[in-house]
Amino acid sequence: MSSEPRVAYLSMEIALHPEVPSYSGGLGVLAGDTVRSFADLGLRAVAVTLAHRKGYFSQSLDERGRQSEEPVDWDLSEYLQAMEPRVEIRIEGRPVCLRAWRFRVLGQGGSHVPAYLLDTDLPENAEQDRRLTDTLYGGDEHYRLCQEVVLGVGGIRMLRALGYGNIDRFHLNEGHAALAVLELLTEGKEEPPIDGVELLAAVNHVRNRCVFTTHTPVPAGHDQFSGAQARSVLAPGFIRWLGALGERWALNMTDLALRTCHFVNGVAMRHGEVSRGMFPHYPIRSITNGIHPVTWASDAFGELFDRHIPEWRSDSYSLRYAVGIPTAEIASAHERSKLALLKHVREVTGRELDPEAFTVGFARRATAYKRANLIFREPERLAEIVRDSGPIQLVFAGKAHPRDGEGKALISQIFEAGEALRGRVEVIYLPQYDMRLGRLLCAGCDAWLNTPIPPLEASGTSGMKAALNGVPSLSVLDGWWVEGCVEGITGWAIGADEGESDLSGEDRDARHAAALYDKLETAVLPLYYQQPMRYAEIMRSAIALNGSFFNTQRMVLQYLYDAYALRAEETEDPASDWFPTSG
Ligand SMILES: *Cc1c(COP(=O)(O)O)cnc(C)c1O
Repeated sequence: MSSEPRVAYLSMEIALHPEVPSYSGGLGVLAGDTVRSFADLGLRAVAVTLAHRKGYFSQSLDERGRQSEEPVDWDLSEYLQAMEPRVEIRIEGRPVCLRAWRFRVLGQGGSHVPAYLLDTDLPENAEQDRRLTDTLYGGDEHYRLCQEVVLGVGGIRMLRALGYGNIDRFHLNEGHAALAVLELLTEGKEEPPIDGVELLAAVNHVRNRCVFTTHTPVPAGHDQFSGAQARSVLAPGFIRWLGALGERWALNMTDLALRTCHFVNGVAMRHGEVSRGMFPHYPIRSITNGIHPVTWASDAFGELFDRHIPEWRSDSYSLRYAVGIPTAEIASAHERSKLALLKHVREVTGRELDPEAFTVGFARRATAYKRANLIFREPERLAEIVRDSGPIQLVFAGKAHPRDGEGKALISQIFEAGEALRGRVEVIYLPQYDMRLGRLLCAGCDAWLNTPIPPLEASGTSGMKAALNGVPSLSVLDGWWVEGCVEGITGWAIGADEGESDLSGEDRDARHAAALYDKLETAVLPLYYQQPMRYAEIMRSAIALNGSFFNTQRMVLQYLYDAYALRAEETEDPASDWFPTSG
């Protein structure tokens, strides 16, 4: 590329550091891994999120699996540097003052990308406004809208105040950041032009610079606010711009972003297809998510890669050369990762798992569509498989959103199923799923289970972390697994690829559970217990085939080529200058 774009990446959550509680789950982890790859590649990039002074929440579970939540107590100044500039935004007509804290994300090559965490907790603000950057996904709809004003409008203003004048691309990671386009529009023209041609030119000027990644395959998952709510919270100039864009009756963040971004993508091939079905008037592309290998490799696999593929830390494609690592070394690195997990289980629960027993991991947000309890649908069948094919241990983790009653009930159901199967199947539920536990779990199990209702898992990334650590997935064909599954080579599919089939609940669950039991009984367990070296070959293929592709370095390069690419008139040194004029 003759000239590299300068990129601003806006996200409601970014997992910057295991001790900084500025994320809740997959979206934030993806954002953190993206920024880490920006830094590795030495891109001119900057990230913006909120300070989240009280985090998402800290989870405790009682003996029956009932979840309770506590705010996270952390000291911003321990990890972040307070910046000087202050900017002002308007919320419900009140001025709200913001400051930013900086976290430097250091890349493998030594360059860094700054992430700015916006903070409204300043004495000049009204008490309610001081709390706006406290709790990630906390409060009600109104609180959420105010937070999105801070992120979108405040984010752009803060970037300007910090001196970022020449940003080529604004990347909106999910609709939460969509209000940024209103600020960009008013920067160009305070009032929307009456003249249609002028209006189009003003919108196109913003469109050309904005990129939108959607992450949600269900309409209900997209942030939406009533017109009345929007009018009460947003400044009148923004409301006039929304009117000019045709957003009069409701403020739908996805819709706003679709209208104002020139590049829009879903986060896996299947999710792109599903999104095009939901929004048929927009050319939605796919760029499949990834993970940052250096962040997610266990200590044992990090050392193994250092020995065999020393360039893996800066070149994720080189993980392909894992094909040359002897399977015995893969097996022994895995054994170390597994022992590290079992040690954590012992420390947290006092329970002793068997290092020889087939151990299945399942960690994700506890919410209905992920069906954490699918494997317990027929407990007697599960017990019978264990009797005939060998022991199974199950290790679960995941938080339910404080207002997701169904999600909370799922956690309790897993505790109950564990009680009912006691002595036959070991079932562990670890509290406080976070980056650190994710790293232990994804590497320490023998297989990674994933049973969402298709097509609701947009991508999923925990299975990618598992693959990098040689842990094959056993998964419904949805999200990234549609692309990642090579049957019996990188893992196993549960059932057939059903596309967007809409078979209703009971039927579908019964069918998927039966397919899961079948696969365990006929393919996975026989291989694990009777052909351990073949199992190690699968582990190796998971790394070589999937680790080398499902990473954020490949993903960011795809964004660079497809989404951030500068048009000829935007480049500082057009390619034509390079060619000699004569000859
Ligand atoms: C990777 C990760 C996720 C996302 O995993 P999914 O497979 O998308 O559910 C969520 N939470 C934590 C803590 C993670 O590390």
